[in-house]
Amino acid sequence: MNSTDSEPIVRVREVKKDKVNFVLENVDLARVVMADIPTVAIDLVEFEANTSVLPDEYIAHRLGQIPLISTNCDEAIRYTRDCTCLSQCSYCAVQLRLDVACNDDTTMEVTSNHLEVVPLDDYMQEEIQHGEEKAKRTQWFGHPVGKNEPGTPPVLICKIRKGQELRVKCIAKKGIAKEHAKWSPCSAVSFEYDPYNKLRHTSYWYESDIQAEWPLSENAQEEEPPRDDEPFDFNAKPNKFYLEIETDGSLAPQDVVEKGLNELQAKLANLILGLKEPTDEDMGGGGAGGPMPAWGAPAAAPAESTWGTAGSSWPGGSSPGRGGATSAYSSSPGTGGSGWGGGAASGWGSPERQVGSWTA
Ligand SMILES: [Zn+2]
Repeated sequence: MNSTDSEPIVRVREVKKDKVNFVLENVDLARVVMADIPTVAIDLVEFEANTSVLPDEYIAHRLGQIPLISTNCDEAIRYTRDCTCLSQCSYCAVQLRLDVACNDDTTMEVTSNHLEVVPLDDYMQEEIQHGEEKAKRTQWFGHPVGKNEPGTPPVLICKIRKGQELRVKCIAKKGIAKEHAKWSPCSAVSFEYDPYNKLRHTSYWYESDIQAEWPLSENAQEEEPPRDDEPFDFNAKPNKFYLEIETDGSLAPQDVVEKGLNELQAKLANLILGLKEPTDEDMGGGGAGGPMPAWGAPAAAPAESTWGTAGSSWPGGSSPGRGGATSAYSSSPGTGGSGWGGGAASGWGSPERQVGSWTA
């Protein structure tokens, strides 16, 4: 392997609105774009009225998975755990409302087109917040993807009949797919390497003619076909990957690739930093502030746990038929260790249902 073999190379072959196809050499990108690119998604749901046939938690779960426009999510919104507010404010959250009632004899479909972005009531918090995040948002930041866009069918949330209604307040937050898959900007990531199977990482089952039964993919045009007399190189390693990344529309595929590469670079820089011998100066702090870099910092425990215990975070909210308590739902299940649903102290995701808080 010579030095040029290890330089990362990206060559884009096709770009569409929601899809990008490219060849990548010497980099492993697929994991990063699937798990580490932040987007916004509905995370907290408060039901003011739900007389549909679906239970609250079912609808909360569906709302969480609606893709929301997250352009420039890195800079346009902060994680609530990095914010100084108590549970949500306009710097770390986007509020959406769903307010529909059916008065006809025909069944009504409640879809993502009914979700309206409304300014967040910041109460007293606005004064103490400072930041440029809001200036960096695009006009449609936080709106459902494809809302009222001709040719893009909306996401169905539920169906209601005459006399039924749905009044819901949703808080969308920034997150990554390591915490919950709803935050993944990717709907499909596919990749192939070694189209001729020169490395023999797989063996094809075939009936009579392997070449007829296993046609070559178009990626084979990118590589030299093996000669019949070519000896097997058992030291060879794959270094050229053919990728296709499809997004749900929350981010453009080009942005996903670009941010994925940045993320990978940052991870490697952190690793290198972590491998360095700690100096005396680094050790000075001792204890928790040790020399190790904040590996995987985004997974640190979020500070939202105050939310679940306080149904009163939503003043004035009431949920008829739910024991009178405000029923607030988190649409992310407690993924281990991330702080959500971690300790019993936090209402979210703890096994006991407190003040109507659920994980869906
Ligand atoms: Zn905030």
